[in-house]
Amino acid sequence: MSERIRMVITVKAYPAISNKYGEVVCVAGIRIDVEPYSWVRLWPVPFRELHFDQRFSKYDIIEIEVDSSTDSRPESVRPNLDSLQILQGKRLPPGGPWPKRRPVVEPLLIDSMCQLQQQQRVDGTSLGVFRPAEVTDLVIEDDTDEWKPGQSGKASQSSLFFPNKGVLEKIPCRFKYRYRCSDPQCRGHEQSIVDWEIAESYRNWRSRYPDEATLRAKIKQKYFEQMCDPKRDTAFFAGNMHLHPEAFLILGVFWPMKI
Ligand SMILES: [Zn+2]
Repeated sequence: MSERIRMVITVKAYPAISNKYGEVVCVAGIRIDVEPYSWVRLWPVPFRELHFDQRFSKYDIIEIEVDSSTDSRPESVRPNLDSLQILQGKRLPPGGPWPKRRPVVEPLLIDSMCQLQQQQRVDGTSLGVFRPAEVTDLVIEDDTDEWKPGQSGKASQSSLFFPNKGVLEKIPCRFKYRYRCSDPQCRGHEQSIVDWEIAESYRNWRSRYPDEATLRAKIKQKYFEQMCDPKRDTAFFAGNMHLHPEAFLILGVFWPMKI
């Protein structure tokens, strides 16, 4: 059954190639038209095929019609993208301790990654946000894999209606946070961060830092030293993978200054 929802976008991952849907983006956020606020994942979203005035950013508020999804994850809904509307002038700004964003995100905070994994085994929960106890590193690994067989064609194929969208670039490295969560039994986590923003930093900063080692050091400076600084109330948005529900990824970082 179709319903129109209002949500704050909190997560937008770098596009991935789905065998079934082609190039799609994991988009998730928080429904603010229900009490209590709740997670919602829009799937699938071929983001680069959206009209320019529909290309939302993180912390935009959008309204959209959704249907129940064939994706088994309980938070997922199927978006009717023609109905997508960004509410103009409503984007939640950052500003120091992020006073407009905290009241939306903080009610959904859970204790830890270990708790989210336990919850996933009980009821399939597939999205969460938590404050890591200690982030020890951002590891940047080479990722020289090409798109998997059958995917490269799709990655470079312009669709009939969007002939100019360009080839989706495969980023030649993986970014992983290494951290401990606050569960007393935690044995530590190392999970990829798949936020579109970190991939865009890599692409955009290349011209400024043509030397690969310097480029990676700059990425680490922002995404580890700055965003995980003890002066910030850093939290990780996490979600699992459609086909591997036990495997969680970091989808984005919430990093306001401490109050
Ligand atoms: Zn843990």
